[in-house]
Amino acid sequence: MTPSPVWHPFTQHALEPAMKRIIRTEGAYLFDDQGNAILDAISSWWVITHGHRHPLIMDAIRHASESFDQIIFAEYTHQPAEELAKRLIAIAPAGLDHVFYSDSGSTCVEVALKMALGFFHNSGAPRSRIVVMEHGYHGDTIGTMSAGERGVFNAPYEPMLFGVDRLPFPVPGREQDTLDAFEAFCRGGQVAALLIEPLVLGAGGMLMYPASLLAELKAIATRHGSLMIADEVMTGWGRTGTLFACEQANIAPDILCTSKGLTGGSLPLAATLCSAEIFDAHLSSDRSRTFFHSSSYTANPIACAAAQANLDVWKTEPVTARVQSLVAMHGTRLERFKADSRFGNVRQTGTIVALDVNVPATGYFSEAGPKLRAFFKGRHLLIRPLGNVIYLMTPYCVTAANLDRIYDAIDEAADMIVQGGAR
Ligand SMILES: *Cc1c(COP(=O)(O)O)cnc(C)c1O
Repeated sequence: MTPSPVWHPFTQHALEPAMKRIIRTEGAYLFDDQGNAILDAISSWWVITHGHRHPLIMDAIRHASESFDQIIFAEYTHQPAEELAKRLIAIAPAGLDHVFYSDSGSTCVEVALKMALGFFHNSGAPRSRIVVMEHGYHGDTIGTMSAGERGVFNAPYEPMLFGVDRLPFPVPGREQDTLDAFEAFCRGGQVAALLIEPLVLGAGGMLMYPASLLAELKAIATRHGSLMIADEVMTGWGRTGTLFACEQANIAPDILCTSKGLTGGSLPLAATLCSAEIFDAHLSSDRSRTFFHSSSYTANPIACAAAQANLDVWKTEPVTARVQSLVAMHGTRLERFKADSRFGNVRQTGTIVALDVNVPATGYFSEAGPKLRAFFKGRHLLIRPLGNVIYLMTPYCVTAANLDRIYDAIDEAADMIVQGGAR
Protein backbone atom coordinates (compact mmCIF):
# COMPACT_ATOMS: atom_id res chain seq x y z
CA MET A 1 0.00 0.00 0.00
CA THR A 2 1.34 3.46 -0.81
CA PRO A 3 1.95 5.54 2.30
CA SER A 4 -0.83 7.95 3.25
CA PRO A 5 -0.22 11.68 2.74
CA VAL A 6 -2.28 12.44 5.83
CA TRP A 7 -0.43 14.03 8.75
CA HIS A 8 -2.30 13.05 11.91
CA PRO A 9 -2.53 15.14 15.10
CA PHE A 10 -0.35 14.31 18.11
CA THR A 11 1.14 11.45 16.12
CA GLN A 12 4.80 10.54 15.73
CA HIS A 13 4.51 8.86 12.34
CA ALA A 14 7.99 7.31 12.67
CA LEU A 15 6.85 5.30 15.69
CA GLU A 16 3.15 4.67 15.31
CA PRO A 17 1.71 1.52 13.80
CA ALA A 18 -0.63 1.90 10.82
CA MET A 19 -3.86 3.79 11.54
CA LYS A 20 -6.98 1.79 12.14
CA ARG A 21 -9.54 2.68 9.50
CA ILE A 22 -13.02 3.41 10.82
CA ILE A 23 -15.99 2.88 8.53
CA ARG A 24 -18.91 3.57 10.86
CA THR A 25 -19.79 4.72 14.37
CA GLU A 26 -22.75 4.04 16.60
CA GLY A 27 -23.45 4.52 20.31
CA ALA A 28 -20.31 3.72 22.29
CA TYR A 29 -18.60 2.00 19.35
CA LEU A 30 -16.33 2.64 16.38
CA PHE A 31 -16.37 -0.07 13.71
CA ASP A 32 -13.19 -0.69 11.72
CA ASP A 33 -12.74 -2.14 8.24
CA GLN A 34 -11.56 -5.44 9.73
CA GLY A 35 -14.94 -6.09 11.33
CA ASN A 36 -13.95 -5.04 14.86
CA ALA A 37 -16.14 -3.08 17.25
CA ILE A 38 -13.98 -0.71 19.30
CA LEU A 39 -15.42 0.58 22.57
CA ASP A 40 -14.85 4.34 22.72
CA ALA A 41 -13.90 4.94 26.38
CA ILE A 42 -12.65 8.51 25.77
CA SER A 43 -15.57 9.82 23.70
CA SER A 44 -13.32 10.29 20.65
CA TRP A 45 -11.14 12.90 22.38
CA TRP A 46 -13.86 14.12 24.73
CA VAL A 47 -16.40 15.33 22.18
CA ILE A 48 -19.12 12.65 22.07
CA THR A 49 -21.54 13.02 24.98
CA HIS A 50 -24.70 10.94 24.46
CA GLY A 51 -23.13 8.44 22.06
CA HIS A 52 -22.00 8.39 18.45
CA ARG A 53 -24.64 9.38 15.88
CA HIS A 54 -27.51 10.10 18.23
CA PRO A 55 -30.59 9.81 15.98
CA LEU A 56 -32.12 13.15 17.00
CA ILE A 57 -28.88 14.99 16.22
CA MET A 58 -28.34 13.18 12.91
CA ASP A 59 -31.93 13.99 11.88
CA ALA A 60 -31.40 17.67 12.69
CA ILE A 61 -28.24 17.73 10.56
CA ARG A 62 -30.07 16.13 7.62
CA HIS A 63 -33.00 18.50 8.02
CA ALA A 64 -30.87 21.66 8.29
CA SER A 65 -28.85 20.69 5.25
CA GLU A 66 -32.07 20.84 3.19
CA SER A 67 -32.12 24.62 3.73
CA PHE A 68 -28.64 25.77 4.71
CA ASP A 69 -24.95 25.60 4.04
CA GLN A 70 -22.54 28.28 5.32
CA ILE A 71 -23.85 31.85 5.44
CA ILE A 72 -21.84 35.00 6.06
CA PHE A 73 -22.54 35.97 9.68
CA ALA A 74 -21.97 39.72 9.48
CA GLU A 75 -25.03 41.65 8.20
CA TYR A 76 -26.91 38.33 8.01
CA THR A 77 -28.25 35.95 10.60
CA HIS A 78 -30.34 32.77 10.70
CA GLN A 79 -32.79 30.94 12.90
CA PRO A 80 -30.45 28.13 14.05
CA ALA A 81 -27.91 30.63 15.47
CA GLU A 82 -30.55 32.97 16.95
CA GLU A 83 -32.53 30.23 18.63
CA LEU A 84 -29.44 28.40 19.89
CA ALA A 85 -28.04 31.59 21.47
CA LYS A 86 -31.28 32.14 23.41
CA ARG A 87 -31.34 28.56 24.57
CA LEU A 88 -27.68 28.62 25.64
CA ILE A 89 -28.19 31.74 27.71
CA ALA A 90 -31.24 30.15 29.35
CA ILE A 91 -29.24 27.14 30.60
CA ALA A 92 -25.84 28.74 31.26
CA PRO A 93 -24.90 30.25 34.63
CA ALA A 94 -26.75 33.53 35.24
CA GLY A 95 -25.18 36.77 34.04
CA LEU A 96 -24.07 35.53 30.63
CA ASP A 97 -26.07 37.53 28.13
CA HIS A 98 -24.32 37.34 24.76
CA VAL A 99 -23.08 34.53 22.54
CA PHE A 100 -20.16 34.76 20.11
CA TYR A 101 -19.80 31.78 17.78
CA SER A 102 -16.63 30.18 16.48
CA ASP A 103 -15.60 26.70 15.45
CA SER A 104 -13.26 25.03 17.92
CA GLY A 105 -12.23 24.97 21.55
CA SER A 106 -9.03 26.86 20.78
CA THR A 107 -10.81 29.60 18.88
CA CYS A 108 -13.48 30.13 21.52
CA VAL A 109 -10.73 30.60 24.12
CA GLU A 110 -8.88 33.02 21.81
CA VAL A 111 -12.15 34.95 21.50
CA ALA A 112 -12.47 35.00 25.30
CA LEU A 113 -8.94 36.41 25.72
CA LYS A 114 -9.63 39.09 23.12
CA MET A 115 -12.96 39.97 24.78
CA ALA A 116 -11.22 40.37 28.14
CA LEU A 117 -8.47 42.63 26.80
CA GLY A 118 -10.96 44.52 24.63
CA PHE A 119 -13.16 45.11 27.66
CA PHE A 120 -10.38 46.83 29.62
CA HIS A 121 -9.02 48.63 26.55
CA ASN A 122 -12.41 50.07 25.69
CA SER A 123 -13.10 50.94 29.32
CA GLY A 124 -10.13 53.31 29.27
CA ALA A 125 -8.16 51.41 31.92
CA PRO A 126 -6.18 48.86 29.94
CA ARG A 127 -5.02 45.69 31.67
CA SER A 128 -2.82 43.16 29.96
CA ARG A 129 -2.07 40.26 32.33
CA ILE A 130 -3.72 36.86 32.05
CA VAL A 131 -3.50 34.49 35.01
CA VAL A 132 -3.74 30.74 34.46
CA MET A 133 -3.29 27.58 36.48
CA GLU A 134 -0.22 25.38 36.30
CA HIS A 135 -0.86 22.25 34.14
CA GLY A 136 -3.69 24.03 32.32
CA TYR A 137 -4.57 23.32 28.69
CA HIS A 138 -6.57 25.71 26.53
CA GLY A 139 -5.79 24.69 22.96
CA ASP A 140 -3.05 24.52 20.37
CA THR A 141 -3.12 27.95 18.70
CA ILE A 142 -0.34 30.39 19.59
CA GLY A 143 -2.52 32.31 22.03
CA THR A 144 -3.94 29.30 23.80
CA MET A 145 -0.54 27.58 23.90
CA SER A 146 0.78 30.71 25.58
CA ALA A 147 -1.82 30.29 28.31
CA GLY A 148 -1.29 26.54 28.64
CA GLU A 149 1.40 24.55 30.36
CA ARG A 150 4.78 24.91 28.66
CA GLY A 151 6.82 21.86 27.80
CA VAL A 152 7.96 19.61 25.03
CA PHE A 153 4.68 20.19 23.15
CA ASN A 154 5.33 23.86 22.56
CA ALA A 155 9.10 24.24 22.98
CA PRO A 156 9.73 24.97 19.25
CA TYR A 157 7.19 27.81 19.34
CA GLU A 158 8.37 29.29 22.64
CA PRO A 159 9.80 32.46 21.01
CA MET A 160 6.30 33.33 19.75
CA LEU A 161 4.40 32.69 22.99
CA PHE A 162 3.37 35.57 25.27
CA GLY A 163 3.92 35.61 29.02
CA VAL A 164 1.18 34.83 31.52
CA ASP A 165 1.12 34.56 35.33
CA ARG A 166 0.75 31.02 36.67
CA LEU A 167 -0.92 29.81 39.84
CA PRO A 168 0.39 26.65 41.51
CA PHE A 169 -2.02 23.73 41.15
CA PRO A 170 -4.01 23.43 44.41
CA VAL A 171 -2.66 20.12 45.72
CA PRO A 172 -4.61 18.93 48.78
CA GLY A 173 -3.43 20.76 51.88
CA ARG A 174 -1.77 23.55 49.86
CA GLU A 175 -4.86 25.25 48.47
CA GLN A 176 -4.06 28.48 50.29
CA ASP A 177 -0.86 28.83 48.21
CA THR A 178 -2.97 28.99 45.05
CA LEU A 179 -5.29 31.61 46.52
CA ASP A 180 -2.40 33.67 47.90
CA ALA A 181 -0.62 33.62 44.54
CA PHE A 182 -3.76 34.84 42.78
CA GLU A 183 -4.30 37.58 45.35
CA ALA A 184 -0.68 38.72 44.89
CA PHE A 185 -0.97 38.87 41.09
CA CYS A 186 -4.25 40.77 41.36
CA ARG A 187 -2.73 43.34 43.71
CA GLY A 188 -0.53 44.42 40.80
CA GLY A 189 -3.69 45.88 39.25
CA GLN A 190 -2.94 44.56 35.76
CA VAL A 191 -4.85 41.27 35.81
CA ALA A 192 -7.45 41.34 33.05
CA ALA A 193 -8.64 37.78 33.58
CA LEU A 194 -8.14 34.45 35.23
CA LEU A 195 -8.44 31.78 32.53
CA ILE A 196 -9.21 28.45 34.14
CA GLU A 197 -10.57 24.95 33.53
CA PRO A 198 -13.21 24.51 36.25
CA LEU A 199 -12.80 21.44 38.53
CA VAL A 200 -10.79 19.27 36.12
CA LEU A 201 -7.58 20.10 34.24
CA GLY A 202 -7.94 17.77 31.28
CA ALA A 203 -4.93 17.46 29.01
CA GLY A 204 -2.66 18.40 31.94
CA GLY A 205 -3.35 14.96 33.41
CA MET A 206 -6.98 14.91 34.59
CA LEU A 207 -6.05 16.81 37.73
CA MET A 208 -9.02 17.60 39.95
CA TYR A 209 -9.67 20.28 42.56
CA PRO A 210 -12.68 21.14 44.69
CA ALA A 211 -15.49 23.51 43.71
CA SER A 212 -14.89 25.55 46.87
CA LEU A 213 -11.47 26.61 45.50
CA LEU A 214 -13.03 27.76 42.24
CA ALA A 215 -15.54 29.82 44.22
CA GLU A 216 -12.73 31.41 46.25
CA LEU A 217 -10.79 32.28 43.08
CA LYS A 218 -13.90 33.93 41.67
CA ALA A 219 -14.32 35.97 44.85
CA ILE A 220 -10.72 37.21 44.61
CA ALA A 221 -11.18 38.12 40.93
CA THR A 222 -14.36 40.02 41.69
CA ARG A 223 -12.70 41.90 44.56
CA HIS A 224 -9.97 43.13 42.22
CA GLY A 225 -12.18 43.87 39.23
CA SER A 226 -10.59 41.04 37.21
CA LEU A 227 -12.64 38.84 34.93
CA MET A 228 -12.98 35.07 35.19
CA ILE A 229 -12.94 33.06 31.97
CA ALA A 230 -14.23 29.53 32.53
CA ASP A 231 -12.82 27.22 29.88
CA GLU A 232 -15.61 24.62 29.93
CA VAL A 233 -14.58 23.20 26.57
CA MET A 234 -14.04 19.79 28.16
CA THR A 235 -15.99 20.08 31.43
CA GLY A 236 -19.26 21.26 29.88
CA TRP A 237 -22.28 19.18 28.93
CA GLY A 238 -22.46 16.90 31.94
CA ARG A 239 -18.91 15.59 32.16
CA THR A 240 -18.41 16.67 35.76
CA GLY A 241 -21.90 15.57 36.83
CA THR A 242 -23.63 18.91 36.24
CA LEU A 243 -24.38 20.58 32.90
CA PHE A 244 -21.51 23.04 33.47
CA ALA A 245 -18.80 22.54 36.11
CA CYS A 246 -19.18 26.14 37.34
CA GLU A 247 -22.61 25.24 38.73
CA GLN A 248 -20.95 23.16 41.45
CA ALA A 249 -19.09 26.22 42.72
CA ASN A 250 -22.27 28.25 42.45
CA ILE A 251 -20.46 30.90 40.42
CA ALA A 252 -21.12 32.71 37.19
CA PRO A 253 -17.95 33.41 35.24
CA ASP A 254 -17.76 36.64 33.23
CA ILE A 255 -16.92 34.61 30.13
CA LEU A 256 -17.67 30.95 29.45
CA CYS A 257 -16.13 28.90 26.63
CA THR A 258 -17.93 25.84 25.30
CA SER A 259 -17.25 23.58 22.35
CA LYS A 260 -16.60 19.83 22.46
CA GLY A 261 -20.01 18.56 23.67
CA LEU A 262 -21.97 21.52 22.31
CA THR A 263 -23.22 19.56 19.29
CA GLY A 264 -23.14 16.29 21.22
CA GLY A 265 -19.79 15.87 19.48
CA SER A 266 -21.30 15.59 16.01
CA LEU A 267 -19.98 18.73 14.26
CA PRO A 268 -17.40 21.43 15.01
CA LEU A 269 -18.92 24.43 16.75
CA ALA A 270 -17.93 26.66 19.65
CA ALA A 271 -19.45 29.50 21.60
CA THR A 272 -18.02 32.15 23.90
CA LEU A 273 -20.69 33.48 26.26
CA CYS A 274 -20.07 36.80 27.98
CA SER A 275 -21.69 39.28 30.34
CA ALA A 276 -23.58 42.37 29.18
CA GLU A 277 -20.78 44.56 30.57
CA ILE A 278 -18.25 43.03 28.21
CA PHE A 279 -20.57 43.35 25.22
CA ASP A 280 -21.50 46.90 26.21
CA ALA A 281 -17.83 47.94 26.46
CA HIS A 282 -17.63 47.19 22.73
CA LEU A 283 -20.91 48.96 21.92
CA SER A 284 -20.23 52.44 20.58
CA SER A 285 -20.78 54.78 17.66
CA ASP A 286 -16.98 54.70 17.49
CA ARG A 287 -16.18 51.92 15.01
CA SER A 288 -12.73 51.34 16.52
CA ARG A 289 -14.46 49.69 19.49
CA THR A 290 -15.88 46.90 17.31
CA PHE A 291 -15.00 43.37 18.36
CA PHE A 292 -12.70 42.51 15.48
CA HIS A 293 -12.89 38.76 15.27
CA SER A 294 -14.40 36.25 12.87
CA SER A 295 -13.98 32.69 11.70
CA SER A 296 -15.12 31.97 8.14
CA TYR A 297 -17.33 29.19 9.42
CA THR A 298 -18.71 31.13 12.35
CA ALA A 299 -22.20 29.99 13.43
CA ASN A 300 -22.45 27.34 10.74
CA PRO A 301 -26.23 26.80 10.49
CA ILE A 302 -26.02 23.02 10.27
CA ALA A 303 -23.74 22.87 13.31
CA CYS A 304 -26.09 25.24 15.17
CA ALA A 305 -29.00 22.95 14.31
CA ALA A 306 -27.00 19.99 15.64
CA ALA A 307 -26.38 21.93 18.88
CA GLN A 308 -30.09 22.67 19.19
CA ALA A 309 -30.81 18.97 18.74
CA ASN A 310 -28.28 18.29 21.49
CA LEU A 311 -30.28 20.61 23.75
CA ASP A 312 -33.43 18.73 22.72
CA VAL A 313 -31.80 15.48 23.80
CA TRP A 314 -31.01 17.02 27.19
CA LYS A 315 -34.63 18.19 27.44
CA THR A 316 -36.50 15.13 26.20
CA GLU A 317 -34.32 12.28 27.45
CA PRO A 318 -33.31 11.57 31.06
CA VAL A 319 -29.71 12.67 30.41
CA THR A 320 -29.16 13.99 33.92
CA ALA A 321 -30.30 10.69 35.44
CA ARG A 322 -28.14 8.80 32.94
CA VAL A 323 -25.14 10.90 33.94
CA GLN A 324 -25.84 10.33 37.65
CA SER A 325 -26.08 6.61 37.15
CA LEU A 326 -22.79 6.62 35.20
CA VAL A 327 -21.17 8.57 38.06
CA ALA A 328 -22.33 5.90 40.52
CA MET A 329 -21.28 3.01 38.26
CA HIS A 330 -17.75 4.45 38.03
CA GLY A 331 -17.67 5.07 41.77
CA THR A 332 -18.30 1.45 42.70
CA ARG A 333 -15.87 0.10 40.10
CA LEU A 334 -13.10 2.53 41.02
CA GLU A 335 -13.27 1.37 44.64
CA ARG A 336 -11.24 -1.78 43.91
CA PHE A 337 -8.20 0.29 42.87
CA LYS A 338 -8.18 2.69 45.82
CA ALA A 339 -5.96 0.62 48.14
CA ASP A 340 -4.12 -1.03 45.24
CA SER A 341 -0.36 -0.36 45.35
CA ARG A 342 -0.16 -0.52 41.55
CA PHE A 343 -2.11 2.74 41.39
CA GLY A 344 -1.92 6.19 42.94
CA ASN A 345 -4.17 9.23 43.05
CA VAL A 346 -7.35 7.32 42.16
CA ARG A 347 -9.83 10.11 41.45
CA GLN A 348 -13.25 10.97 40.05
CA THR A 349 -15.18 14.14 39.26
CA GLY A 350 -18.57 13.27 37.84
CA THR A 351 -18.23 10.99 34.82
CA ILE A 352 -14.45 11.56 34.55
CA VAL A 353 -12.20 9.09 36.36
CA ALA A 354 -8.42 8.88 36.39
CA LEU A 355 -5.70 6.92 38.11
CA ASP A 356 -1.92 7.00 37.96
CA VAL A 357 -0.12 3.74 37.28
CA ASN A 358 2.79 3.56 39.71
CA VAL A 359 5.88 3.54 37.52
CA PRO A 360 9.16 5.33 38.28
CA ALA A 361 9.12 7.34 35.05
CA THR A 362 5.97 9.49 35.04
CA GLY A 363 4.94 12.36 32.77
CA TYR A 364 3.61 12.39 29.23
CA PHE A 365 6.60 10.53 27.78
CA SER A 366 6.47 7.79 30.41
CA GLU A 367 7.29 4.46 28.77
CA ALA A 368 4.02 3.23 30.24
CA GLY A 369 1.90 5.42 27.93
CA PRO A 370 2.45 3.75 24.54
CA LYS A 371 2.52 0.29 26.14
CA LEU A 372 -0.83 0.84 27.81
CA ARG A 373 -2.30 2.28 24.64
CA ALA A 374 -1.19 -0.74 22.60
CA PHE A 375 -2.54 -3.11 25.25
CA PHE A 376 -5.98 -1.48 25.21
CA LYS A 377 -5.97 -1.30 21.41
CA GLY A 378 -5.37 -5.05 21.33
CA ARG A 379 -8.52 -5.42 23.44
CA HIS A 380 -10.50 -3.17 21.07
CA LEU A 381 -10.78 -0.48 23.72
CA LEU A 382 -10.15 3.15 22.79
CA ILE A 383 -8.22 4.41 25.84
CA ARG A 384 -5.30 6.82 25.45
CA PRO A 385 -3.44 7.30 28.72
CA LEU A 386 -1.74 10.65 29.30
CA GLY A 387 1.69 9.20 30.08
CA ASN A 388 1.15 6.95 33.10
CA VAL A 389 -2.28 8.44 33.81
CA ILE A 390 -5.15 6.20 32.73
CA TYR A 391 -8.40 8.10 32.45
CA LEU A 392 -11.90 7.30 31.26
CA MET A 393 -14.40 9.73 29.79
CA THR A 394 -17.01 7.57 28.13
CA PRO A 395 -20.12 8.60 26.25
CA TYR A 396 -23.16 8.52 28.54
CA CYS A 397 -24.68 5.52 26.73
CA VAL A 398 -22.12 2.99 28.02
CA THR A 399 -23.58 0.05 29.90
CA ALA A 400 -22.51 -1.55 33.17
CA ALA A 401 -21.17 -4.47 31.13
CA ASN A 402 -19.10 -2.06 28.99
CA LEU A 403 -17.61 -0.60 32.16
CA ASP A 404 -16.85 -4.02 33.63
CA ARG A 405 -14.90 -4.84 30.49
CA ILE A 406 -12.98 -1.57 30.72
CA TYR A 407 -12.14 -1.92 34.43
CA ASP A 408 -11.03 -5.55 34.02
CA ALA A 409 -8.75 -4.46 31.18
CA ILE A 410 -7.24 -1.70 33.37
CA ASP A 411 -6.55 -4.31 36.05
CA GLU A 412 -4.73 -6.54 33.54
CA ALA A 413 -2.93 -3.62 31.92
CA ALA A 414 -1.51 -2.54 35.27
CA ASP A 415 -0.16 -6.05 35.86
CA MET A 416 1.48 -5.91 32.47
CA ILE A 417 3.11 -2.55 33.24
CA VAL A 418 3.99 -2.90 36.91
CA GLN A 419 5.17 -6.52 36.78
CA GLY A 420 6.16 -6.59 33.14
CA GLY A 421 9.25 -4.43 33.43
CA ALA A 422 8.17 -0.98 32.21
CA ARG A 423 9.93 0.14 35.40
C1 LIG B 1 -9.80 20.39 23.93
C2 LIG B 1 -9.70 21.64 24.73
C3 LIG B 1 -9.48 22.88 24.12
C4 LIG B 1 -9.21 23.02 22.64
O1 LIG B 1 -10.27 22.60 21.87
P1 LIG B 1 -10.04 22.28 20.32
O2 LIG B 1 -11.41 22.10 19.77
O3 LIG B 1 -9.21 21.03 20.27
O4 LIG B 1 -9.31 23.43 19.73
C5 LIG B 1 -9.48 24.01 24.91
N1 LIG B 1 -9.68 23.91 26.24
C6 LIG B 1 -9.87 22.75 26.87
C7 LIG B 1 -10.10 22.73 28.33
C8 LIG B 1 -9.87 21.56 26.14
O5 LIG B 1 -10.02 20.39 26.77
